[in-house]
Amino acid sequence: MSIDLKRLVRQNIWNLKPYSCARTEYSQGSATVFLDANESPYNNPNNRYPDPLQRELKAAIARVKGVAEECTFLGNGSDEAIDLVLRIFCEPRRDNVVAISPTYGMYEVCAHINDVEYRPVRLNDDFSLNAGRLLSATDSHTKVIFLCSPNNPTGNCLEREQVERILERFGGIVVVDEAYSDFSTERPFRKDLREHPNMVVLNTMSKAWASAAIRLGMAFASEEIVELMNRVKYPYNVSLPTQKEALAMLRRGPQVGIWIGSILSERRSLTEAFSILPLCEKVFPTDANFFLARVSDARKIYDYLISCGIVVRDRSRVELCPGALRITIGTPDENNALLGALRQYKG
Ligand SMILES: *Cc1c(COP(=O)(O)O)cnc(C)c1O
Repeated sequence: MSIDLKRLVRQNIWNLKPYSCARTEYSQGSATVFLDANESPYNNPNNRYPDPLQRELKAAIARVKGVAEECTFLGNGSDEAIDLVLRIFCEPRRDNVVAISPTYGMYEVCAHINDVEYRPVRLNDDFSLNAGRLLSATDSHTKVIFLCSPNNPTGNCLEREQVERILERFGGIVVVDEAYSDFSTERPFRKDLREHPNMVVLNTMSKAWASAAIRLGMAFASEEIVELMNRVKYPYNVSLPTQKEALAMLRRGPQVGIWIGSILSERRSLTEAFSILPLCEKVFPTDANFFLARVSDARKIYDYLISCGIVVRDRSRVELCPGALRITIGTPDENNALLGALRQYKG
């Protein structure tokens, strides 16, 4: 749906005159003596402030992701983009956001930090999305809808037709978090930015790109929305070491492809072996690098695995997930260690 950005954005943000940093005021040209930013002249390469708009890195990401640089925002993890969307669009104590439930916990935490009402809407029992039910939870103060596909912790992709219905009928911002899309064969929504000016797609270097430590998240959206995010972010939100490590990782694309292939083949064998364990009641279908499984006694099995030195995630108190553990796909050795331990488990 086309949107009236001026009406959606908080007025203080719309009127904001952003901080102008030294590296923005002088950003191109052939100068070699930099006496403008009170930096130290020593300890090259880390003495200088980094490019506030991360242009070299964005050009590399644009090639890999097939999204224009002007439609790309980079931040300190996807979490920064989630926080910026809330701060740009939601007036504290007045506006609200709607999200599927269960889902990634940061949407709710970020909403509450910003004093914005959070309205979770239950998925169907099979974790599928009912667009009508989600839309009926919105009102004139709903600024943002959070969707996550493949969804965490359930692992499934949301049905494209249902997501499109929300994108077409909702007059606010729709965030589609695709942190796990590299593990799925579904067409990613970032390819459809042009058709959906109200969509913000999130990607991250933390999962398939094996770089959780460097903290780099991406948001893909219209040029206008990206411009707003750039205006509100801290001037130097992505450090130079992070920009360099990310560039180095992007050059290792073929290696990353091999890792993804191995994770997918392990996902197949691990879920098969897990599903025939006596303690397993159900393995839910997954499009991500983890799976959700309902087991005979989630808390006891979680504690038992800890005693074996293996940590999984207990999701048994999460909506629609009673008795469920969330298990990340590891290396073949790690997955065998898990299976070996569980075969020894005596309920
Ligand atoms: C892991 C995860 C992220 C990644 O967050 P970063 O801040 O980029 O590390 C984002 N969204 C979901 C749903 C996740 O599970």
